[in-house]
Amino acid sequence: MKKVIFALAATTILAFLLGFTIAQTTVWKPQPKAANATRVLVVTGGHDHDADFYSVFDDTAIDANVNPHPLAFRGDMRKRYDVIVLYDMIAELEPKKQENLKAFVESGKGIVALHHAVCGNQNWPWWYNEVLGGRYLFEEFEGKKSSYIHDLEETITPVGNHPITRGIKPFRIFDETYKDVWISPRVTPLLKSDHPTSNETVGWISPYDKSRVVYIQLGHDRNANLNPNYQKLVRNAIQWSAGKLQ
Ligand SMILES: [Zn+2]
Repeated sequence: MKKVIFALAATTILAFLLGFTIAQTTVWKPQPKAANATRVLVVTGGHDHDADFYSVFDDTAIDANVNPHPLAFRGDMRKRYDVIVLYDMIAELEPKKQENLKAFVESGKGIVALHHAVCGNQNWPWWYNEVLGGRYLFEEFEGKKSSYIHDLEETITPVGNHPITRGIKPFRIFDETYKDVWISPRVTPLLKSDHPTSNETVGWISPYDKSRVVYIQLGHDRNANLNPNYQKLVRNAIQWSAGKLQ
């Protein structure tokens, strides 16, 4: 009996201390969302990433839900979301989930693909040729094979005049570079890198004409995720792909 009383007392004290500790901890408060905020499904999975990634979406004009693949694609996404942000690396989606993703882009909804998302869906030519306009080459293709190097400093310069890069000047970023990624000759380049270990084009608008599709190669870890220029690029890409930035 004494043991039971002791256990009860210990539990009560522990609960009190825990509650007190939680109350004392500064809780992260996301920005309140505007009524007309763009509804975004952020798809992760297949590749590790750090938690700072989510700060990219901490913006009053973005109402983001995070869901890992392949569950993210299990239903019709057209009613719930305006834009899908792909930060996943899936080898292959099963046919039903491919259908759901296809229905989403064919309905005119936006896609913003980031960083390692260019490595996924390797067995879905329609996806990388028509929708994304690029593919990381794990195997040699047309005499080239892609490669990556972590932890490099590069200068990123906007190309042309596009709403996504408006107000963004050339900037330095500490990130991972990809080289010899296959890029469709039909893309519209948005960003270029000066680094010799990188493809020159590191951001583009895809040739897909039923919806607005953007790819940004940057974004390996917190060095990119906390970079204000990177955050602005991704947020602009989201609003542009939702048809809200002209
Ligand atoms: Zn990476």
